[in-house]
Amino acid sequence: MLYGALEAGGTKMVCAIGDENGKILEQISIPTVSPEETMPKIIDWFKNKNIESLGIAAFGPIDLDRKSPTYGSFTTTPKLKWANYNIVKDMKDALHIPIGFDTDVNGSLLGEITYGQAKGLTDAVYITIGTGVGGGVMSNGKLVHGMLHPELGHMKLLPYEGDTYKGHCPYHGNCLEGMAAGPAIEERWGRKAIELKDDAKVWDMEAFYIAQALCNIILIMSPQIIILGGGVMHQLQLFPLIREKVKEMLNGYLKTSELADIDHYIVPASLNDDQGIMGCIKLAIDEKALEG
Ligand code: ADP
Ligand code: ZN
Repeated sequence: MLYGALEAGGTKMVCAIGDENGKILEQISIPTVSPEETMPKIIDWFKNKNIESLGIAAFGPIDLDRKSPTYGSFTTTPKLKWANYNIVKDMKDALHIPIGFDTDVNGSLLGEITYGQAKGLTDAVYITIGTGVGGGVMSNGKLVHGMLHPELGHMKLLPYEGDTYKGHCPYHGNCLEGMAAGPAIEERWGRKAIELKDDAKVWDMEAFYIAQALCNIILIMSPQIIILGGGVMHQLQLFPLIREKVKEMLNGYLKTSELADIDHYIVPASLNDDQGIMGCIKLAIDEKALEG
C-alpha cells in the first residue's frame, strides 16, 4: 500500500510517497510561498498517486484539537500568509482520503520512534535547532499535544557569563530559540554559523544554552532518549560539549542507566534528515487505521 507524506516547512514543502516500512519511493520539494501559489502544486502532485492516506507534519503553531472548528489550520504563525490557513481541510477536500496531522517536530520524533534509533521507546524528545527551535514530545507512547502542543524552544534560560546579546525571539528575547537558533548565532557573532566552526567560544556558549534546556526537559519529562536535529546540530562537536554540561548541571542528582551511558542518551538524528518525512508516512498509516 502507498501512503503520502507532506513535511510543511517554512522554506520548503517536501512531498513524498512511501510504503508501510517508511521506504520513500518518490519525493519532490516545492518552495513555501503562499497557500494560493503553493498548495495547488502540492495537490496536483499527490493527485492520481493512489495513496491510502496522507500525513502532514507542519511548522506551527497549529491547531491540533480535533474538536476545534479550526482543526488543521496554522494559527498565530509569524509566516503571515499562512496564518489561519486550513491545510488539512484543503487537502481533504482535494484528495478525499484520511489526513493525519501533527507538528513538524512530533513528526520527526515519530519517524525516529517508528523507523530509527528510538524504536520501541515510549518516552522521547526530539529537538530541532535550525532557523527556530522546536521540540516534539512522546510520553507513555503518545505524542503530546495537551492544550496546544509543546513549545520547548521558548523556555527562558540563564545567560552565559559575559553574553550581552539580547536575543532573537520577538516574544521573549533570550529564550532558547532567541539565544541558540541559527539566526541568533549569526546575529550575535556577525557571521554564518557554519563559518564559525573553529571558534571554540561560539560552541561552548551554544552548548551551555542547549544543555540548560535539556536539563529542564530531563527533570520535567524524564525521557528515555533525547534526539537533536536541525541545521545547527550538524556541528557535531556540540554533542560532547552538551553531554558534559548536562552532567555538570545535573550534578549527580539523577542516577539512571540512560544517563550513565550519556553518549547514547543525547544523540544526533539517525535517519539522514529523512526523520520528518518518514514520520509523515507513519502519521498517514495511523490515520488510515483510525478512520478506516
Ligand atoms: P529549517 O530550520 O529552516 O528547517 P535548518 O534546520 O537547516 O532549516 O536550519 C537552518 C539554520 O541552521 C540556519 O540558521 C543556518 O545558519 C544553520 N545551519 C545550517 N547548516 C549548518 C551547519 N552545517 N552548521 C551550523 N549551522 C548550520
Ligand atoms: Zn521565544
